[in-house]
Order: sequence, then C-alpha cells, then structure tokens
Amino acid sequence: MTRILLLGGTTEASQLAKTLAETGADAVFSYAGRTAKPVNQPLPTRIGGFGGVEGLAAYLRAKSITHVVDATHPFAAQMSTNAVHACEAADVPLCAFERPAWQAGEGDRWVHTDSIEGAVIALPDSSTRVFLAIGKQNLAQFAAKPQHHYLLRLVDAPEADLPLPHTTVEIARGPFDAAGDTALLQRHAITHVVAKNAGGAGAAAKLAAARTLALPVIMIGRPEVPQRPVLGSVAEVMAWLLHSAA
Ligand code: NAP
Repeated sequence: MTRILLLGGTTEASQLAKTLAETGADAVFSYAGRTAKPVNQPLPTRIGGFGGVEGLAAYLRAKSITHVVDATHPFAAQMSTNAVHACEAADVPLCAFERPAWQAGEGDRWVHTDSIEGAVIALPDSSTRVFLAIGKQNLAQFAAKPQHHYLLRLVDAPEADLPLPHTTVEIARGPFDAAGDTALLQRHAITHVVAKNAGGAGAAAKLAAARTLALPVIMIGRPEVPQRPVLGSVAEVMAWLLHSAA
C-alpha cells in the first residue's frame, strides 16, 4: 500500500495536495509551522519539525510511509538535505517537486550572488531604498547596512522588533502581479530589489516590475542540496508515485 509524506510550504505542494486528495491517495501533508495561519490543505496535516535526520527516519518507519515528496521551497535546504538522508536510512523513495529557477531575460539588470552575505555586500554603501523580498528569516544580516530604507513584504506581522532601523512592512501573501508590484516599487521609490531565486509565476511579479522600472535586482542563487530526482509538474510526480518501487 502507498502512503505518502508531502513536505510542503509552497504553491507546488498545495497543487499536489489537491490532486492527491482528489485521487483518494493516502497522504500526509507536513508544514514546518513558520506562518501563523498556513493555507488549509485537503489532506491530513501535521505541523512542526521532525527532529533532524533521525527524527524524520523514525517518523517514516513509525507511519509506514512508502514515498516522500519534497515540495519545500528551494531555499529550505536543511529540510531537503535531511529528507535525502532520512529516506536513504529508512529505504523510502524520495523525489523533489520543484519549480525551475528564474533566468534573466532582455531588459533585466540582475547582479548574481550565491548567498545572503553576498547580497548585503552587493548593496551600495550610500543610503538608498531597497525592496528586500526574501521573507523574514535572514533580515538580521542586512543590519550590516543599516543606512538603507528596507521595504519588507511578510505573510505575518512581525512579533518582535525588526533588526533593521529603517523599514516599511507590507503584510501580504502571494501570488502577486506585475502591475501591482510596479505600483508598489514606485510608491516606495525603490531603487534596488533583493530576491531569492525561488522560481515560479506568483513571486516573479517583482522581477517584471523591476524590469519595467529598469531597477537592479540582486538575485541570490539557490543553495546546494544532495542529488535526488527533481520533477517539475503534478503529472510527473503522480507518474513517479505510480511507478517507483516502494
Ligand atoms: P529549513 O531551514 O530547510 O528547515 C529547518 C527545519 O525546519 C528543518 O530541519 C525541519 O526541522 C523543519 N522543517 C522545514 N520544512 C518542514 C516541513 N515542510 N515539515 C516539517 N518540518 C519542516 O527550512 P526553512 O527555510 O526554514 O523553511 C521552512 C518552511 O518554509 C519550509 O517548509 C519551506 O517550504 C517554507 N518556505 C521557505 C522559504 C525560504 O525562503 N526558506 C520561503 C517560502 C516558504 P527538523 O530538523 O526538526 O525536522
């Protein structure tokens, strides 16, 4: 019997959850528990970490999981790395469901970097206005350049004081569109955009907006994750579930 663990937190995970529910699959959806009100899923849902590689391997055995689909965000490298090692240990097949990285096109002014630190260094030294579109987790590193005004777009209102002295916070959940993001950047007189190369349509609006306004984008490349099969659509994942040996 097939029993699936779906590691979520992305639009792709929600799309797959819908199809799994519609087909009556035996599947559990897993959230890290980072947002106050995660999107409701049409599958039984658990929330919170597993306790590292050992914790996840123990969970897979205890729940008789036969397949793991890692549909976490491309920057959730710790979870993805743990999933590879835990699935090896518990002998459970694993695939990743991931959107392709964005590529710069005509009119884009991207500065590539491979880390948050690199993005901080790439920002100018003189005070400017930055759309820091990286979520809430790595804000503290930008305190190394406190002279800038940072526009943040977060899912939940911050519970604690922000580590940056000059900020404006927009509370919003994607997907976003190019016209809306162009108006946002203009309204806040943004001169630089900092983005993680997440891929996908909903989060690409800020890149289209930056192109329209000829603004530079400091693009942070994806972290490394151990090798695993990477699939790009719900149909491919469903076929993999059908054909991969449990
Ligand atoms: P991370 O650094 O790779 O993971 C840190 C720890 O959080 C993991 O070791 C695991 O704890 C727990 N965890 C992460 N995803 C989990 C899941 N789906 N179910 C259960 N536990 C999970 O991850 P992150 O970057 O903090 O991201 C956390 C979640 O937010 C992910 O699910 C991701 O899809 C989503 N997200 C992340 C970003 C981003 O930019 N990083 C953006 C949008 C959404 P244990 O070791 O205790 O098992």
